[in-house]
Amino acid sequence: MDTFIKLRDIAVAGHMDLEPDGEPKQSPPISPSTHKVAACGTVIRHDPPAHSRPTPEKELGITQLVMPGGKTMPALKSMITTACERNCFYCPFRAGRTYRRQTVKPDEMAETFMKMVRARKVEGLFLSSGIIKGGVTTQDKLIDTAEILRHKFGFRGYIHLKVMPGLEKDQLRRAMELSSRLSVNLEAPNDHRLALLAPKKQFVEELIRPLQWIEEIRREEAPNRTWNGRWPSSVTQFVVGGAGESDLELLSTSERLLKQLKLQRVYYSSFKPIKDTPLENVSPSNPLREHRLYQSSFLFRDYGYDLEELPFDKKGNLPLNEDPKLAWARANLIERPLELNRASREELLRIPGIGPLGAEKILKARRQGKIRGVKDLKSIGVQTKRLASYVLFDGRRPQQQLRLFG
Ligand code: SF4
Repeated sequence: MDTFIKLRDIAVAGHMDLEPDGEPKQSPPISPSTHKVAACGTVIRHDPPAHSRPTPEKELGITQLVMPGGKTMPALKSMITTACERNCFYCPFRAGRTYRRQTVKPDEMAETFMKMVRARKVEGLFLSSGIIKGGVTTQDKLIDTAEILRHKFGFRGYIHLKVMPGLEKDQLRRAMELSSRLSVNLEAPNDHRLALLAPKKQFVEELIRPLQWIEEIRREEAPNRTWNGRWPSSVTQFVVGGAGESDLELLSTSERLLKQLKLQRVYYSSFKPIKDTPLENVSPSNPLREHRLYQSSFLFRDYGYDLEELPFDKKGNLPLNEDPKLAWARANLIERPLELNRASREELLRIPGIGPLGAEKILKARRQGKIRGVKDLKSIGVQTKRLASYVLFDGRRPQQQLRLFG
C-alpha cells in the first residue's frame, strides 16, 4: 500500500489534532474548540468544526509547530503503528477497538518524510507509536527511523521522538543522540490516578524512570555523539480530568518534573471522551482548567513560584475565574506594594503584567536612571494595564501620581 495512504489513515484514525508542539505559546487558547485527548504522545481531535476541516496536508498529519521565539515550522506528526497491545482507557488506539490499523516500516517512514521535505511540505518530524511486542521492540523502530534520517539522508532538522514505556537505558541514550526533543507522557500525576486511566502502564518503572535517565545522561555524559552537539530537551503530557485528579496533584508532579528533572515543558490536555472506550461516558474536562494549569506551570518554570504559593481551594483545585499570578498578587501585594525602582528581578516577576522580558527592560532602564511612573514604563514597552495596584514609584502609588499630574 502507498505510504501516503497509510499516513492519511494514521492521521484520520485519531483525527490527529496537530497542536503546537515545539515551544508552544505562553498562553494556550481558552477556546473550547481544542478537543484533545492524549494517546502515547498523540494529541487528537474529534469532530473538528467546519472552519477547520482538514486540508490535504492536515490529512497526512502535517502540522505547524511553534518554535522558541514564536516562529512556526511545518512538521509531520505521525506514528509507526496505530496497532497497540495496551488498553489505555482514554485512547482511540487501544487494543480491541475496531478501525483500520496501519503500520509503516522505519525505512518507509524515513523515505516518505524526506519526499515531503524535498517538496518543502515539512521541516520536522514528530514520531510516536502504538506498542506492539513491547516497548523495547517498538522503541527500536522509532530509533531506526531517526537513524536513517540522520545518517542515510543527512537530515539536520527537528525530530521529536516518543519514549515508549519499558524501553532500555541504552535505547534512551541512542534516541537522545538522534533527536531534538523526547517526550514521555505520564498522562496522570501518580500511580493511583494512572491505574484509573492506563492500568497496564507502570508509573515509576515505565514513565518516571526514563525521565530520570534523561536528566542523568544530560548531567553526567558529554553530548559528543549527538547529531548537533547538544542533548535534546524533554517534555511530558497529562490528561486533565480523566481520572478525578485535583490540580494540586497535577501541579505538584509538574513542579517536580520542571525543577528536578529539568523538563522543558509540561503539556496539559483536557479529557474528552472517545466512543467505544471505557471512559466514553465520562464528562469532558473544562478547557479553562487546562489554561489555569498552563499558567501555573509557567509560574514554576519562569517566575520562581513554589507550589505552596498557588491559591488552591480545600479540594486542591485552582479558581477557574482568576489568573493564579493575579490571585497571589491580590493576597500579597495590595497591602505591601513593591517599590519598582528597588525591586529585585524575582520581585518584579511577582507583579501582574510583568514577565521575564518586562523585568529585563525595567532592570535595564533602572541602570540609566529612575523610573518615575507609568509613562516611563510604557515608553520602554512594559505592559502597565494590571500593575497599578501592586507597585510604588518612590513611595507613591501610580494612581496618586496620575491624579497629581492629571
Ligand atoms: S500505550 Fe496506551 S496511550 Fe499508547 S497507543 Fe497504546 S493504548 Fe494508546
